Amino acid sequence: MKIQIVGSGCTWTRELSTSYIINDEILFDVPQGSFKTLYLDYGFDKISTIVISHFHSDHFADLHIVLDYIFRHFPKRKLTILAPKGCAQRVQAMFRLFELSHLLPHLEEFVTFIECENGKKLKLGKYSFKCFKMLHGSLDSYGFLIDEGGNKVGFTGDTAMCNNLHKILKKAKVCFIDTAGVEVTQKHLCVGEVVGLAKEYPDCNLVKIHLSSYAMQELDYLGESYSRDGDVVIVE
Ligand SMILES: [Zn+2]
Repeated sequence: MKIQIVGSGCTWTRELSTSYIINDEILFDVPQGSFKTLYLDYGFDKISTIVISHFHSDHFADLHIVLDYIFRHFPKRKLTILAPKGCAQRVQAMFRLFELSHLLPHLEEFVTFIECENGKKLKLGKYSFKCFKMLHGSLDSYGFLIDEGGNKVGFTGDTAMCNNLHKILKKAKVCFIDTAGVEVTQKHLCVGEVVGLAKEYPDCNLVKIHLSSYAMQELDYLGESYSRDGDVVIVE
């Protein structure tokens, strides 16, 4: 599996907010301001699935522009959007808000919305997905295990420490893990927790992501690696 890290940061950094492209086919999260990079550096030629982990703007806010582009340039493209409950209604509201109401019929005809639920398993093409409800304040926020031919890769989305995080780490060969904080909270993992998890799960390679500038400073101090915009991770 090839995972391109489109963005590695959180909102208050120079880095683009966290987003990935998996095997050129799956776009995972669409942060505010990400369309320019997606369009200029990656393209949408093969994108057939879009995953939205939750509805914070740094994971969701450019979805209407991405859909506008795909509908315009690939008018027969069938898309699947895997997202928390209510995504279709939110995208319809975005289209109305941003003067894109003419796209509403395309949404109905060409997009299948699948709602995440904790423990839900589904197959999309050659990929098996399992959804995990994570701990991100009181939000409906999801992490995922994506399995391609036995290669299991975890994506925590935004999360604090929780039981489902351990379930992902037990199964995944590689896990892209929220490392936004420097203190323990109920919204994000912090550097100390992620360093501890790396020792607890030596068989899972943790790719630190969604980094704040404070987290990067602490990781630099500890001599720990972390991801940057444009990195590519191959899992085989
Ligand atoms: Zn969030």
